[in-house]
Amino acid sequence: MRVIVATNAFGMGIDKPDVRLVLHIDCPDSIEAYFQEAGRAGRDGKKAYAVLLWNKGDRKKLNKRVVENFPEKDYIKEVYEDLAYYYQIGVGSGAGYSFVFEIDKFSRTFKHFPVQTHSALQILERAGYIHYEMEPEARARVMFKLGRNDLYRLDESSKFEDAVITALLRTYGGLFSNYVYIDEGLVAQEAGLTTQQVYVILKNLAQRNIIYFIPQRKTPFITYLQDRIDGEKVVLSKEIYEERKEQYVKRINAMQAYASNNEVCRSRQLLIYFGEKRHKDCEQCDVCLDHESPEPSNEQTKNAREAILNLLKDGERHHITELHKLNLPNKGLDVALEYLIHEEEINIDGSFIFL
Ligand SMILES: [Zn+2]
Repeated sequence: MRVIVATNAFGMGIDKPDVRLVLHIDCPDSIEAYFQEAGRAGRDGKKAYAVLLWNKGDRKKLNKRVVENFPEKDYIKEVYEDLAYYYQIGVGSGAGYSFVFEIDKFSRTFKHFPVQTHSALQILERAGYIHYEMEPEARARVMFKLGRNDLYRLDESSKFEDAVITALLRTYGGLFSNYVYIDEGLVAQEAGLTTQQVYVILKNLAQRNIIYFIPQRKTPFITYLQDRIDGEKVVLSKEIYEERKEQYVKRINAMQAYASNNEVCRSRQLLIYFGEKRHKDCEQCDVCLDHESPEPSNEQTKNAREAILNLLKDGERHHITELHKLNLPNKGLDVALEYLIHEEEINIDGSFIFL
């Protein structure tokens, strides 16, 4: 047996059909995430298990995530200010600049918790102030800041800059509306320059507000998408803060309800959550197995019970192995035996059963 220890990116990345068990040690923060991750088990259609470890401490941990993911607005503005101080960016400048971002160093410098800092930066990104890349792609990216027509009116650009701009436009599409991954080597070839020259020119073009340039990197980085403003003036709208926070709390609550509801079949809970109309108990989850009473609940166990009583009708003691000759499904047999013993309709003594 192989064990894969994975973070939640697991849900996206790994596509193994024969995962038999997905065990969650930490509770995901939404049913959607849980469903997707747990759903990685048993892709081959064979029996598989999903286990979620849950205790009261997890409820606390989940609630804490709300505060971690949505720090106070004042705190977010503080992070915005500290960031500008960190990179020495004055009010009214900075647009298009990219910086390597080491969250631990930054957090230590300003005595912030990295988790909250990370969330604050994500919110600032949603608000359109910065681009915050945690796990950067290795390749460089470019987007034009000027429109096509403004580009032709540029008269201060050098011959080399012209060559790079022309090479970009010839090689890539969509540069005016999106960040496009570029290959600096290819651009260099097209422009008749070296890769190093292209890199320097792209940086210059970014500083002159002609393009946005995200250099090829392996470390997280931050790009200013707008000139720095006064922290007080940072606008965090309802859509990007309150509404999202509300949604997040709802999702967390739903997850908690799922994890702590031991009365309704898990499968049924999920189907109800996802709005499926048809649902019945799965008879396989922990809730279903827990609730299974010894009372014969289906045809199988009812037949088994009758068969056992039939065998014992003669009033003799019968060896327990004789039960197997009845050719009953094991599951029905177990449940039926349990029921009959519980109701004192039969006795078991050593290896014998009797009425
Ligand atoms: Zn169930």
